[in-house]
Amino acid sequence: MSFDHLGLRAEILRAVTEKGYTEPTEIQRQAIPEILKGRDVLGGAQTGTGKTASFTLPILQTIFEMGRPTQPRPVRALVLTPTRELAAQVGESVQTYGKYLPLKTAVIFGGVKIGPQMHKLRKGVDILVATPGRLLDHMGQESVDLSQVNLLVLDEADRMLDMGFIRDIRKILAALPKQKQVLLFSATFAGEIKKLANELLKNPATIEVAKHNTASERVKQIAHPVDKQRKRELLSYLIGSNNWRQVLVFTRTKHGANRLADQLSKDGISTAAIHGGKSQGARTRALAEFKSNKVRVLVATDIAARGLDINQLPHVVNYELPNVPEDYVHRIGRTGRAGNEGEAMSLVSVDEQAYLVDIEKLIKRKIPSVVLDGYEPDPSIKPEKASNPKRRSKAQPGKKPSVRKSAPSGNTARGLPAGHKPPKRRQTVKGNRRAGQFSG
Ligand code: AMP
Repeated sequence: MSFDHLGLRAEILRAVTEKGYTEPTEIQRQAIPEILKGRDVLGGAQTGTGKTASFTLPILQTIFEMGRPTQPRPVRALVLTPTRELAAQVGESVQTYGKYLPLKTAVIFGGVKIGPQMHKLRKGVDILVATPGRLLDHMGQESVDLSQVNLLVLDEADRMLDMGFIRDIRKILAALPKQKQVLLFSATFAGEIKKLANELLKNPATIEVAKHNTASERVKQIAHPVDKQRKRELLSYLIGSNNWRQVLVFTRTKHGANRLADQLSKDGISTAAIHGGKSQGARTRALAEFKSNKVRVLVATDIAARGLDINQLPHVVNYELPNVPEDYVHRIGRTGRAGNEGEAMSLVSVDEQAYLVDIEKLIKRKIPSVVLDGYEPDPSIKPEKASNPKRRSKAQPGKKPSVRKSAPSGNTARGLPAGHKPPKRRQTVKGNRRAGQFSG
């Protein structure tokens, strides 16, 4: 099926074709006609499914077809996203797909100066993409008028709630007209999301493209048991020996991300870190360097990585498992996107076994566990002796390992620990080790 049958205008189809898309994805095929009809939509879709275009394309059309607004233009479509990165990416999509329509877009998020945003808003904006906190700042300063919003999108609503934005969202909702079309997208449908959806959506079209809480079937997953204090060494080895050129690595904490980025850099592997403690400029720069292959490794925390859209990302490594199992699903969703094969590897120390069990329960499958020769976990380290951070609690800075083994020191430019024997896999892992091509 092509895009021509979805009811989209020629100006939009032209932009889509120029972007190189030939066929709509499942969520686009289902959601676009419903949104164009004016229906509310409850979208169960993770990133990687093409959900951004599934709402951006029909929003552009709907707003354009409303006709010329009064001057200055009031905001008529509002998209709320949990993170700055996601807001920037949605804003980019609106620009890309709307390039042949005379509509104005603004993206507003925190961490950057508010003045230029106010200036832009005052000049008039048709489609506004915003993170909740900064939008509230603008509302407080009366630099934005939301009284004419006809269309509201809550993107990654589950994550907005996880991040504690519910009160902000409610304040924003209170400033919007009662009569409006609402689109709510969420990867999961936990209790609070259901409640919000029931309150907000009227007779919605429910569209689900991936089963709730199911890890992407496309992504090959593997766990390597290893002692905590040898993880860095193993990671350097894996990157170097497999000659990975682009790998996204997750840590639980900002501090852990910085430390790992420093260590990998010392191993001769160009690495950047991205997390909420970095300025917006530093985050944008790190992402740009990673995308353009200037750095091989991007170390990220869960929140910073949410919504990152990196084409052809072949490898994701969980340096530490997340204590919230749903975060694992989000993390591995960074690879194997839009039909490509990807690989997600988890380095699991004994104190993280319980997290692994929770993750396997959530994704309803066993993750194959492979001990690498030379990196066998020390059997004298028992879970109860090791640090055992609480599950499902806020991330805590990594604790010192309870047992220290001397690891080889000194590294080569390839990132291999000097004097270290290459590990062999105990168990053969079948499958393509490279990701396929990705269009878009
Ligand atoms: P999203 O789920 O919105 O984050 O999109 C995931 C990726 O798929 C992005 O890189 C998009 O540019 C890409 N994409 C979106 N729609 C299509 C399409 N119809 N064909 C190919 N790629 C697409």
